[in-house]
Amino acid sequence: MECTACKKPATLVCGDCNGSSILEGDPPIAYYCNSVCQETHWTHHEPTCRRLQDRKALYMVGEMAQRLFYIHRDITWKSLDIGKVEKVGNNLIIRERTTDDATTTSPKKYRIFPSHLVSTKEDKDAILVFKACVEGVRWTMEFVDGMLEGIVRTSTHFVYKAKNDSLRTRCYPLSTSFLEIINNMDYISHEIIKVTLRSGEVFAVDITGAQYGYHEPVTPWTKYEQERIFCAISAVDPYPSSKLLQIDDYNLQELNYFYKLAEGPKPHIFMTALAIMKWHILGWQKHENMSLKKWWALPEETLRMKLNDLIHFIEWSFRSPIEIL
Ligand SMILES: [Zn+2]
Ligand SMILES: [Zn+2]
Repeated sequence: MECTACKKPATLVCGDCNGSSILEGDPPIAYYCNSVCQETHWTHHEPTCRRLQDRKALYMVGEMAQRLFYIHRDITWKSLDIGKVEKVGNNLIIRERTTDDATTTSPKKYRIFPSHLVSTKEDKDAILVFKACVEGVRWTMEFVDGMLEGIVRTSTHFVYKAKNDSLRTRCYPLSTSFLEIINNMDYISHEIIKVTLRSGEVFAVDITGAQYGYHEPVTPWTKYEQERIFCAISAVDPYPSSKLLQIDDYNLQELNYFYKLAEGPKPHIFMTALAIMKWHILGWQKHENMSLKKWWALPEETLRMKLNDLIHFIEWSFRSPIEIL
């Protein structure tokens, strides 16, 4: 590569924006031979750099929100009593257990998702988020609102009629014939968050798209619109988030409050999964002595390492709630 400033051979890239996803229309990545050239070129690079950093932050937060949502659904599975799962072509059919009179037998208690019934991670993710888009939108807002304050200009709760689903996840009792299932061209609507960053870039944040065969949490809006949206149904302000993730640095008072809740007699009954997760995120920030908002200044590799650490920490904490008290 040649130095963007002086055209000599160069290997250095800007650490602040390196690692951002590259999209059509981006200028070529700026390379530098040394820090002097980088400084000289900064006034040219700065607007691009800020735009790419914001984009990187959104992609990271989208990934984090999605991975934690999968974990949450995995260990607090309550929506369906699954008898078996069938995969025929692009149809992923959840066969729900029913009683003799064909009423469904929805579980009364939270349980671990029956992973042994699905053969791939993609199919498992598809079922984990099946019909969970409203919850997914609220979950996403906690992260977008809490971790991207200042970076996000507007966010909209967007509902649309979908097209081009590469997977059809559906749920039927065992007695429904396969022919009936594939001939049922039912109407599908989906809900996501449309995010406009302060740079003007617009993205779809969709953490529950796996049920339609789409696994990436963040997609540039124009691409998403072309590929996925048949027609818009509504676009409204999202539910306000509880803003807990907006705390700049871990806040001891807040943390103590959550510890107290968790020490109560039946913590899981009066704390929602989201509150439990936030409590773990606060605890992690205390443990690391660093707020999540400072993440965006970290180099790409460190940032990714910390993201994985945090997700494993929360997963571990979720699965062994007693041990961390
Ligand atoms: Zn140079
Ligand atoms: Zn840069």
